[in-house]
Order: sequence, then structure tokens, then C-alpha cells
Amino acid sequence: MTTSTMVLGRLDEVRAWQEELYRDLHAHPELSHQEQRTAEAVASRLSAAGCEVHTGVGGTGVVGILRNGTGPRVLLRADMDALPVREATDLPYASTATATDSAGVDLPVMHACGHDLHVTCLLGALDLLAGARQAWGGTVVAVFQPAEELGDGARGMVQDGLTDLVGPVDVALCQHVLPQPAGSVATRSGPVLSSADSMRVVVHGRGGHGSMPHATVDPVVVAAMIVVRLQTVVARELPPGEPAVLTVGSLQAGTKSNIIPESATLLLNVRTYSEQTRTVVLTAIERIVRAECAAAGAPREPELELFDHFPVTQNDPEVTARVAAAFTDHFGAAVRQLDRLTASEDFSDLPRAFGVPYTYWGIGGTDPELYDRAAAAGRLNQDVSVNHSPLFAPVLQPTLDTGTTALVVAALAWLGREQPGREQPGREH
Ligand code: ZN
Ligand code: ZN
Repeated sequence: MTTSTMVLGRLDEVRAWQEELYRDLHAHPELSHQEQRTAEAVASRLSAAGCEVHTGVGGTGVVGILRNGTGPRVLLRADMDALPVREATDLPYASTATATDSAGVDLPVMHACGHDLHVTCLLGALDLLAGARQAWGGTVVAVFQPAEELGDGARGMVQDGLTDLVGPVDVALCQHVLPQPAGSVATRSGPVLSSADSMRVVVHGRGGHGSMPHATVDPVVVAAMIVVRLQTVVARELPPGEPAVLTVGSLQAGTKSNIIPESATLLLNVRTYSEQTRTVVLTAIERIVRAECAAAGAPREPELELFDHFPVTQNDPEVTARVAAAFTDHFGAAVRQLDRLTASEDFSDLPRAFGVPYTYWGIGGTDPELYDRAAAAGRLNQDVSVNHSPLFAPVLQPTLDTGTTALVVAALAWLGREQPGREQPGREH
């Protein structure tokens, strides 16, 4: 009997409470930084599994530590927050929840990114590991973080002393449910998720009567020139083959057709896969904005402000190879190559704070038959609902079993007593 079969032997027993918990979490989603109810459910399950539990880390964050003698120390992470989306699935456990956001606006709330699944899988994996201590050695550090969707939940836990609280770890692992066939897992070495930055740009003109443009500096024209010129950054300043996205998502100026306004505001979004490319793009934006304002004779310098930063997620080759090998042993043909995604994540803020390598993999959540039909018809983009859609909800099984198993199998690649990896250097504590 291999180590992972020993640990997974209780999956039937664990699945029973997991399915119930998942439906409950799905029906009770909470916005970023408001994950109190979820955190309570997490803490009570962690206690039941015999973990040392820390609550209120970086707001609503929860940490569970499962100690089992000497051996490697593995950090596993799940995110807890939901999104301001009105659920449109017909599931019996669909959310009808609403909440008030930090600006005082009432919003519908839905687990439209599958974080309820991540929480349930990680709690299940801890229960399984806790129930088979003879099969492994070391320490599991389970981090349940708030506010992934805002990109500041992981950072908040770090700033609140996470690394001192749990001590050193050797490796960090994380997974996300994606619109791929349920039952599959997907890994990728190197950059896997882009970094993201948003920028607010305010350009100043000199307002006046729409009939007297010669007496004004028109910020609408300046903003329009900036939007067009920004299209050359990716096309003309980056090497062909280096992926990046620069989108102007919002452009606002003026109130009336015959008034030339005082200013215009642009909201930009940038996605890149390396620090170097990020610097090239952000530098080019600033240069273009300032130069267009100067070209128009703007009376004041423009204002540029970065916000909502997400780091690039860069999977370590050795850690990824070790997890991929363990997945292939266990899942066989269900292991796929993960595409590079233009989405972004703040998970890597955790391993960066601990100074350790990491990997981030995908698990499928789409009904496999539906997926195959859509793929055969060339209609994947039309027929398979994606994360953040009001229709996004993983099929409960085999998604839940796969995500739970994937965490156990990946963690045991460091912790398992029978793994060849046991000879590899793991810190002893
Ligand atoms: Zn999301
Ligand atoms: Zn997500």
C-alpha cells in the first residue's frame, strides 16, 4: 500500500461532511475582507482535525498547523472570498445572498470563482492527513486567506506576522478550479499567471466654451491621443512573442456637448509575465502620458497612480516537476499541461514572504461531457462558463474528490514516508 492510498483510505468518510460543507459555503458567500462566517467554519473544522488554530490573521485569515514529528514543512493555501455577482445557476444550493461593500453599496454575492471549493478541499486534505499520521512525517501549515479577489489578502496576513506565527516552511502549494474537465489536474513550470496593475491617469486641460477651443486646452483630445498611442506599447515596444496586455477600461471627461472640461480620467489595466516587461510597460505609459500632455500645452502635469497590484505567479521548475510526477503516479492520463493564464493571483505573496519556492496548479470543474461536446463543436468559449461568470459553478463531483486528492498527493511528495523525496533536504525542526 502506498503512502497516498493509506492517507486517502478515509476519503469516503471525509467526502460525506465535505459535500455538506461545500453546499453550505456556496449558499453563504462573503465578500472580500468580510469572510467571518467562512472563517468560523474553517476554524471549527481545523480544531476537529486536531490542528493548532490561529484566527484573525490579517483580518479574517485562519491558519491551521498540523504537526507530526520531524520532517519537511509544507504550506498549503486556500482563498475564502466570493464576488459581487448575482448567481444565475439553477443549483438547489445557489446563493441569494447580498452584502454591503466597503463603499456602503448593497451587492449580490456569489462564489463565482470557486473559492468555496478550495476551502472544502483543503479542510478535507487536513482531515485525511490527520487521520493517517503513521503514513507521513513533518508539518502541514494550512493558510486560509481573505480577499484574494482584491489582491491584498495574502499581503495582509504577511503584514500581520504570518511568518513569525508559523515559523519557516520548505515549500508552498496552491490550486485553483478552472473551466477544464472535472477530474483533471493541470501543472505548468515557469510563469503561469500574469502580474496585474491598475493605473488611474488624470490629465489636466483648461476648460472653456465649446465654441472657443482656441481659448482652452482640450483634455478630451489629449486623452484620446493617449488611448491611441498606448496601443503602440505592446505592439511596438515589446519583442514579438513576449505576452502583455494593456487595456484602457475607462475613459471619462466632461458633462455637456458645449463645454470643454477641465480634466479627463483614464483607468488602465496592465498584465505582464515578468518584472522586466512590467517595468517596460509602466515606464512607456508614463512617458506617453507626460509627452501627450506636454504636446498639447497642458497647464499642469498629469497625475498617475498605481493600484490593485497582483504579483506574477512563477512556478518553480523543481517543485513543479515533483508535484507533476506525483500527480502522474496517482492520476495517470488525467494530468494535463496548464495553459499560461492572463488572470492574476496574490498566492505568491506567501512563498515570497517565507523565501521558499512554490507551485500553483489547476483542477477541472466542468462537466466532462459538456466540455467534450463544446470542444468538438469548437464552442468552448461560448458553452463552458468561466470563473467570475454568474453561471460558474463546478460540478460537485468528481471536482471535490480531485481537488482534495491533489492536495494530499502533492503534500505527500514532501511528507510521505515512502517518497524518494524523503532523502532530499527537508528542514528538521
Ligand atoms: Zn477570481
Ligand atoms: Zn479565484
